[in-house]
Amino acid sequence: MAPTGLASAIALKRAGHSVLVLEKDLQLGGIGSVLNGSGCAQICPNGCKILLDWGLEAEINAKSAPCSGFSLYKYTAGEAPGPDQFGINRYDPAVLDEARGRYLQFAHRDLVRMLHDAAIEPSDKIGSSSAAQVSIVLGAEVVNVDCEACSVTLQSGDIHTAHAIIGADGTRGVVRKTLIEEEGIFQQSDDGLGVALYHAIVPKVLVDEHDLTVFYHHLGMTVWGGPNRGLRTFVVGNEQNVSLFLYTPDSCQDSTWTREAEMKFTDVLGPCDERIRNLAELTGPATCIQREPSQLESWVSESGRVLVLGDAAHPFPPGATQAYAAALEDAAFIGKIFSHTKNPTRVPDFFRAFQEHREPRVSHIRQVEEEYLNNILMPDGEVKVKRDAAMRARHAVGQNVMDGDLEHMMEDVRIMFGYDSGDDADEWWMTWGRYLDASELSPPQDAFRITTSSSVTRGDEED
Ligand SMILES: Cc1cc2nc3c(=O)[nH]c(=O)nc-3n(C[C@H](O)[C@H](O)[C@H](O)COP(=O)(O)OP(=O)(O)OC[C@H]3O[C@@H](n4cnc5c(N)ncnc54)[C@H](O)[C@@H]3O)c2cc1C
Repeated sequence: MAPTGLASAIALKRAGHSVLVLEKDLQLGGIGSVLNGSGCAQICPNGCKILLDWGLEAEINAKSAPCSGFSLYKYTAGEAPGPDQFGINRYDPAVLDEARGRYLQFAHRDLVRMLHDAAIEPSDKIGSSSAAQVSIVLGAEVVNVDCEACSVTLQSGDIHTAHAIIGADGTRGVVRKTLIEEEGIFQQSDDGLGVALYHAIVPKVLVDEHDLTVFYHHLGMTVWGGPNRGLRTFVVGNEQNVSLFLYTPDSCQDSTWTREAEMKFTDVLGPCDERIRNLAELTGPATCIQREPSQLESWVSESGRVLVLGDAAHPFPPGATQAYAAALEDAAFIGKIFSHTKNPTRVPDFFRAFQEHREPRVSHIRQVEEEYLNNILMPDGEVKVKRDAAMRARHAVGQNVMDGDLEHMMEDVRIMFGYDSGDDADEWWMTWGRYLDASELSPPQDAFRITTSSSVTRGDEED
């Protein structure tokens, strides 16, 4: 089950709405669970603050590994026998304080389990005083969405009707597909970054046995940069396994939708530092994930009652670090905005406000992610020589590698971490929402129905 659907269910329940979550698979998962859920789910501070607001601090402390920055190395072999380190970059504690969150590294399965448990917990435990409930149905594949009738049809033939449908069904989901068809102008664009992502995990015991402690840098993450390839490694959750994200040029011309294929990790490494090769030899198959780059024009159906969020609305570049945090932000925004009324006539306003506010934010995130990726993958040449020399010089005097020329990227990071989607939702409410047809605002109706897909939502459903 998908993180975005579960997070939306939590946020809506906190806002007093009952939710029906429909998941096609028979177990918890989503796209990030390709390695049986043992892969890494990084949550940036802007996502962490939402989990903290939902009262999940104890679960975070029990299940996630912290990350306070990264150590940066050359991807290809250096002249000396050891790893060729450019330097390190620590996240500024003042920035984290301001953001009210930290950088977390979960095993994917633990993150999904935590969200699942919070979604089905009694309302008062997650800060809601209402009798709102979340029901989760596994093995419930949505095969059709009727935007006008605001209903979904399941593979089983069952039909669920609601006042609102929220599609959190990922890049290949039926709700996203329905909106694409409604738009009628969708074309697969070729303007992606031309990057494929391979993912694998190495158990701690193997890393220890092969003396690859360089991947256990005390900051929690290592980044190995260019030319044309890059690697990020993370220590994951309380099991302390090492998770690998390898970025390579994408040789696949047939990227119609998200692509998953398995390769031997060592076959896709290219020339690299021997420690990377040694680590790769310890992995099982590498899973390749090619994200489809096209963006959906409208996240809301013409009827105004069907919305997509998370990856279904805004897929990020492969291996983006902000995907989960953005999904949590989507959920927190939708929960905040729906906390103002149970009047179902407001749904189209709320959904359109969601896109109006969230789209600029996720565009900014995408731009920063792309810049970050381009920096890791920078090809050989004068620019790279200068950049590398500058990073080494900064490290030599005890500075962060991203200071100086790259400081604007850290400023972007500050903005990204500091954003609060609840405040953003409040701004819309205070500026516009509460003035739009105020007569509709009271009294709240009891039977407000929502449906999120992967997750679908309901309140009390119509029979
Ligand atoms: C290996 C890997 C590692 C990643 N690591 C990170 C990371 O460290 N940090 C980060 O920020 N991001 C990471 N990502 C990206 C992140 O996993 C996704 O951005 C995130 O899962 C998106 O969540 P989602 O809920 O929107 O979509 P998904 O995870 O794709 O979930 C969609 C859900 O909808 C269900 N569904 C689909 N169609 C239907 C239907 N017709 N009916 C009912 N249910 C349906 C699916 O079964 C699935 O459960 C990683 C991705 C991968 C593949």
